[in-house]
Amino acid sequence: MMDNATTSAFAAPHDRCEGKLNLIGLDLSELTVVLSAQGLEKFRARQVWSWIYCRGVREFRLMTTLAKPIREMLAAHFTLERPTVSLYQQSEDGTQKWLVKMTDSHEVECVHIPEQDRGALCVSSQVGCTMTCRFCHTGTQRLVRNLSASEIVAQVMLARDYLKDWPEPGQDKDVRTGGKPGYNDEDDSTRALTNIVMMGMGEPLYNYENVSKALRIIMNSEGIAIGKRRITLSTSGVVPMIKRCGEELGVNLAISLHAVTDELRDQIVPLNRKYPIKELLQACRDYPGVSNARRITFEYIMLKGINDSVADAKQLMRLLRDIPAKINLIPFNPWPSAPFECSEWSTIVKFSDILNAGGYASPIRTPRGRDIMAACGQLKSASQKLSAVDRAEIDRLIAEKEAAQGLKS
Ligand code: SF4
Repeated sequence: MMDNATTSAFAAPHDRCEGKLNLIGLDLSELTVVLSAQGLEKFRARQVWSWIYCRGVREFRLMTTLAKPIREMLAAHFTLERPTVSLYQQSEDGTQKWLVKMTDSHEVECVHIPEQDRGALCVSSQVGCTMTCRFCHTGTQRLVRNLSASEIVAQVMLARDYLKDWPEPGQDKDVRTGGKPGYNDEDDSTRALTNIVMMGMGEPLYNYENVSKALRIIMNSEGIAIGKRRITLSTSGVVPMIKRCGEELGVNLAISLHAVTDELRDQIVPLNRKYPIKELLQACRDYPGVSNARRITFEYIMLKGINDSVADAKQLMRLLRDIPAKINLIPFNPWPSAPFECSEWSTIVKFSDILNAGGYASPIRTPRGRDIMAACGQLKSASQKLSAVDRAEIDRLIAEKEAAQGLKS
């Protein structure tokens, strides 16, 4: 029999359902330990892993390569429970949004953005956010807690359930996997969900341990198999964690820049007071693996009369001069009581033209899912709306997080 110490070592309290340990979110070595404690041989863990992450099965009884007594034992001790969906919305442009309710009733949002040849899932890393970026709806919601690795992986699995993106039992959706169930990262032609962007609610580098564990599970080539080149992690600029993220995960990096002077960035991305632009850009220059083939994406939200002048565009190019970069221009997506307006379309085009002429790819991101409040910066769980932000409390939470992660004080 498995003792409590074995299971509690791998899971947060909310990764249990009716006392059973949720196997979603365990990495393969943890799964092996947990199943060994139930008397199963090592190869059984690989079989169970494959059913969970290649097939997406939700019930142990469907794991037909396992003998019935084993399936019954698994069902008695474990669960494959997904979070529930409090609200599901589909935009007229095909964007889908799920308000995902965890076992402790906290909610986060998760958004699928389909394109012609691929589909990206915007995944949340925290309930709420400490960062209080002024243009971001999530930033008006107090941080409640970090999501566990299980809850991060479960967003991907839930989306694949809704998108019907798992192979049918007995039928491989992608024959190029050589007869193995599941997908081949080299060929995603049959997938609805091809890319992951850690750009949902929360600052992923302030929940690094859980985010990195979840991404390793998602990247595992014998499971969900979404490779590191198809994963982008977006940060508001947690400088001390950027290098580690590159070294350990090797995923694409996106920086929420949004301003070209510390004076302005201090106001709209308050983390800048701790890690100013100069330090942030040096961390980008030093990002492991960065090259012209693997550019860093700089997100730049277009705020009318705030950061959208010709001088801002020129200063942006000066700042990024020696960094392999592409710049995503994001028309500001309004939300109730937002203190900004979106720049005029002609201003955005002019800004983009200046950057293009300077040699920078600078696509203007087409707003997606605006009608369901799923566009960039609009996410906020309905259960957690706060009208005012307690600045001192936010600063305290940031300091607490950084102390816990051993970051600079
Ligand atoms: S932009 Fe990202 S880091 Fe900033 S408040 Fe919103 S969710 Fe948090």
